[in-house]
Amino acid sequence: MEQTSDLQYPKFAFFGGKIVPVSEAKVDIRTNALQYGTAVFEGIRCYWTPADKKNYVFRIKSHYKRLLDSCKIMMINVKYSIEELCDITLELLKKEGYKEDSYIRPYAYNSGLTIGPKLIHNEQDLFIYTIPLGEYLNLSKPIKVCVSSWTRIPDNCIPPRAKVAGSYVNAALQKTEALLAGYEEAITLSSDGQHVSEGSAMNLFMAKNGKLVTPPTYNDILEGITRNTVIELAGNELNLNVVERQIDRTELYTADELFFCGTGAQVSPIGNVDGRTIGSGEMGALTKKIQDIYFKAVKNQLKQYSGWCTEVK
Ligand code: PMP
Repeated sequence: MEQTSDLQYPKFAFFGGKIVPVSEAKVDIRTNALQYGTAVFEGIRCYWTPADKKNYVFRIKSHYKRLLDSCKIMMINVKYSIEELCDITLELLKKEGYKEDSYIRPYAYNSGLTIGPKLIHNEQDLFIYTIPLGEYLNLSKPIKVCVSSWTRIPDNCIPPRAKVAGSYVNAALQKTEALLAGYEEAITLSSDGQHVSEGSAMNLFMAKNGKLVTPPTYNDILEGITRNTVIELAGNELNLNVVERQIDRTELYTADELFFCGTGAQVSPIGNVDGRTIGSGEMGALTKKIQDIYFKAVKNQLKQYSGWCTEVK
């Protein structure tokens, strides 16, 4: 993950109910979430637009809605409303004063200090911090990926529709296996090992015979906000109805185009899967169109999507 100025930023964090210098935002080594991963989190992007010198947070309310849904699943009580969480985030960003793209990490967690993994009878808290963040995956040169030998977690193990901190051990195993084998990312199969699920921290789209296809929610995916954005943009701007259906592993090999999408990944083309070149190996025409519209939408350059962009002021 490319991060600039990482020593200088962040200067602040929301911690213990107020905005404090980041050096004061520290947790006890006994913290339940640190021991057992009993926390949920979000990743939100904020885009800096040099032309008008503004920062826009993308789909902030959708992210906080998903955070509260994750909290519900994991029985974490957050005492702030979506509106309050948005206000705190905007205040933090204003104080940092970024003049580059940044990333927001809200984290709701079991902060109690007693031993034992459980979701009740535990103190709970929430913190938020931000970092500068450029590209997470390559956006212009299609990446080489493999299908991971690690499968995605099923709903009745660790629910993939919640962004549970502990579940990212699954993502770390996939990503590390891919990196050690010389690939840039991994594609995981659903928990039954039968269908394509997603990337280590991003959703997947396939273009085939002029159709855009993405795995359905019942194949153990995180219900990505970027996935939803791509479905909206493809339908409204390209007149393409995205088909949500199961995808077999070998369908990937014969796809015309493949791309990952996510808050971190944005829209990132895939050029090779398990040694098979996808299409021409270059970024496909449809991927390019989606990527162009996506970057216009997140930077508040498309009036019809300005409701998704919240200005930091
Ligand atoms: N899947 C996983 C496992 C992720 O961690 C992410 C990143 N949040 C995504 C998909 C993409 O979700 P979103 O577009 O909401 O960032």
